[in-house]
Amino acid sequence: MTDRCPTAFDQTLLSGYLDRELTQGESQRVRLHLEDCAACREELAELARLREATRATPFRPPEDDGWDEGPRGLPSLLTRHLGWTLVLAWAVVILSFAVWQLVTAPEDLGVKLLIASPTAGAVLLFLSVLFDRLRTYKTDRYRRVLK
Ligand SMILES: [Zn+2]
Repeated sequence: MTDRCPTAFDQTLLSGYLDRELTQGESQRVRLHLEDCAACREELAELARLREATRATPFRPPEDDGWDEGPRGLPSLLTRHLGWTLVLAWAVVILSFAVWQLVTAPEDLGVKLLIASPTAGAVLLFLSVLFDRLRTYKTDRYRRVLK
């Protein structure tokens, strides 16, 4: 336990000193008193420890979810879903059009290649996104089970 200060030094000055909220005169007074009062030095160290503990709390490293780039909150979730729906709808329309063009196009190899390669590329991209989504979905489920 901390000894009581023999001169009953104002403890609020100590905490003000710690927070650098004192005037220069008050600061000077605290410094001078601390020089010859072990009790107040100990008290100040204790205050500093407490400050450190409370200050450290909000800065804990975020938990796993904190690093997640998943949508936060309803608006973000809705716009993301809407975005995905639009992109998928667009992809479906473009792909259908491309396939239809491919089927009905004249027997021109150049035109077929022109249409076939972006179509194949789009299909591959779509599959890659789909696989990613599936994997995320699985991890999400796994995470939920863990909790
Ligand atoms: Zn003292």
